[in-house]
Amino acid sequence: MPSPWHREHLSGGLLDARRWLNRPLARRRTPSRAPNLAVHDDIQRVLLTEEQILEGIERVASEITGAYRGTKFTVVSILKGSCVFASDLIRRIPVPLELAFVSASSYREGTESGDLDLNFFPTDKEIRGRRLILVDDILDTGRTMNALVKAFKARGASDVRSCVFLDKPERRAVDYRADFRCFEVEDLFVVGYGLDYAGEYRNLPYVGALRPEIYDTTVAEGDQSTVAEGDQRVQKAQTTKS
Ligand code: 5GP
Ligand code: MG
Repeated sequence: MPSPWHREHLSGGLLDARRWLNRPLARRRTPSRAPNLAVHDDIQRVLLTEEQILEGIERVASEITGAYRGTKFTVVSILKGSCVFASDLIRRIPVPLELAFVSASSYREGTESGDLDLNFFPTDKEIRGRRLILVDDILDTGRTMNALVKAFKARGASDVRSCVFLDKPERRAVDYRADFRCFEVEDLFVVGYGLDYAGEYRNLPYVGALRPEIYDTTVAEGDQSTVAEGDQRVQKAQTTKS
C-alpha cells in the first residue's frame, strides 16, 4: 500500500521520480556532522595549510617520478609520523613502486643504527639489491635518518635515498641532507599531518604550532619510551620561538 508521500510524488511516473531525485539536498537524509573542534582549538598558528602541503607534495612527487622512472624501487615509510605524508606522496608518483614500513624510536643520543630500536623491518628479500627511498615526517637532528640509511645499506640495499616532508636544518646534529624534501621549517615544535605531540594531533590536515599551555601540562600517560619521548618534546617545545 503506497504511502501518501509515494502517492503524491511518484504516482506521476518518471517526471515525479526526477523531481524527487532533484529535490534540494537539505531534504535528503544525510548524517549530521557536528565537528569536534578540540584539536583545532589547541593550535596557536597554522604554518602550512592543506593546500600548500599538497602543492609541495606534487612538486616532490614529480621529482621522484623523474629520478626513478624506469627503475624498480621501494618507498619505505618511517612509522608512525610519515604515514600521512607517504600515503599522499605515493599516490602522486605514477610509476611502479613497492611500499614498506619501518619504525625507529627517535630521540636516542646514538648516531649508529645499532642504537635505534627498529621494528617492522622489511625482509631481506625486500631490501637486498633494491633501490629504497626512506620517507620521514621531519628531519630534525638527522640522527634517525642517518642511522636508518646505514642500517638499510648494511642489509644490502643497492641505493638508499631519503625524502622528508619537513626539514629543520637549524637543528641538525649530524651531517645529513635529505635527497628530497617538501618544506623547510623554522626551529619550532610542529604538529599535524602525521606529526604528533604525546601521540595526538596526527590527524590535523595542516601543520601548526601548538599553544604553549598544551605542552606546559604534564606528559600523557604511556609506556616508558613514550614518556621519555614526550619529555624531550616538551623540552624542545619550551625552547621554541613563537
Ligand atoms: P631526528 O632523529 O631527525 O632528530 O628525529 C626525527 C624525528 O623526531 C621525527 O621523525 C619526528 O618523529 C620527531 N620530531 C622532530 N621534530 C619534531 C617536531 O617539531 N614535531 C614533532 N611532532 N616531531 C618531531
Ligand atoms: Mg618520527
